[in-house]
Order: sequence, then C-alpha cells, then structure tokens
Amino acid sequence: MRTILYPGTFDPVTKGHMDLVERGCRLFDRVIVGVAAAHHKETPLFTVDERVEMASIAASEMDQVEVRPFDGLLVDFAREVGAAAILRGLRAISDYEFETQMAFMNRKLAPELEILFLPADERYTYVSSAIIKEIARLGGDIARFVPPVVIERLGEKLGRNG
Ligand code: ADP
Repeated sequence: MRTILYPGTFDPVTKGHMDLVERGCRLFDRVIVGVAAAHHKETPLFTVDERVEMASIAASEMDQVEVRPFDGLLVDFAREVGAAAILRGLRAISDYEFETQMAFMNRKLAPELEILFLPADERYTYVSSAIIKEIARLGGDIARFVPPVVIERLGEKLGRNG
C-alpha cells in the first residue's frame, strides 16, 4: 500500500487542490490530505476543523482519500501516516522558490521521504485560496473554482446566504 501525503492549509479547499488530489490517486494507493492547523504567514479564515470538514466533503466520493488535521513538523506527520512521499502543486515560477526551499529542508529532516511536485491543471493555475476569499468578499462568483460546500461555507463566514 503506497501512501502519499498532500499537505497544505486548504483555507478553503479549491478545485485546484482537488485536481492535485485526483492526480495523486492515479499514482498512489492512498492519498492523505493533511490540513495544517496553522498557516506559515497568516491566520486562517476557517478553523482547522472547518477546513478538514470542507475537504472531507469535497473528497467524500474518493475512496482512496483520507483528510486529517495535523500540527507540528510535516515530516513527523508523514512518518505517522506511513507516507512514502509528499505531494505539492506548482502553479507558477513564483511557487518554485518557497517549494524547493521547503523540499530541501524536508529532505534533510527525512531523507527517506520523496517530494513530488505536480503542475497545476491549466484551468486552475491562477486559483489560490487567498484569491478565492478575496473574490467572495467582493461578491464575485467563485462557483467555477471551488467545490459546492465551499461556496456555502464562505457565504456563511462572510455573512451572506451563499
Ligand atoms: P500552503 O499554505 O501549504 O501553501 P495551500 O493550501 O495554499 O497550502 O496549498 C497546498 C498545496 O496545494 C501547495 O503545494 C500549493 O502549491 C498547491 N496548490 C494550491 N492551489 C493550487 C492549484 N490551483 N492547483 C494546483 N496546486 C495548488
């Protein structure tokens, strides 16, 4: 049983994230979506439980996928779930610098773990959780970019009906 861990903040989960999860399923037997409690830069809009719930609903028809929260060191969580590799998505060159820095550091901490970068689907290269929150705040239509549950939850969070 080959497991890959897909870690992130998922604040909230987008169709770009879900596209990566699907790609992970084609390559591995099991994909663990690891929802990090804290973000490396900013305070998340949704609590970790809310983020786990949205991602779980989005992945509810995917048998190979399990969504779990974590805090602490990524490599510790990867070992705990028995992951052979870590999955990260690349949208633009701007992702590359941070991602490679993290990858080299994680490789030093856990040399047995492979780090797999997959390019984003063309339809979602410009989709980020941050931009989705911004569009939703300004009243724009996000339906093309996020699973239905996120439209609903963002509406509630921002004091709208959906
Ligand atoms: P983090 O704060 O760890 O970057 P994110 O939830 O923003 O967490 O992203 C998690 C992972 O998903 C990252 O590897 C990121 O590059 C990737 N990702 C984010 N948006 C997309 C997208 N639209 N298409 C493909 N991968 C994406």
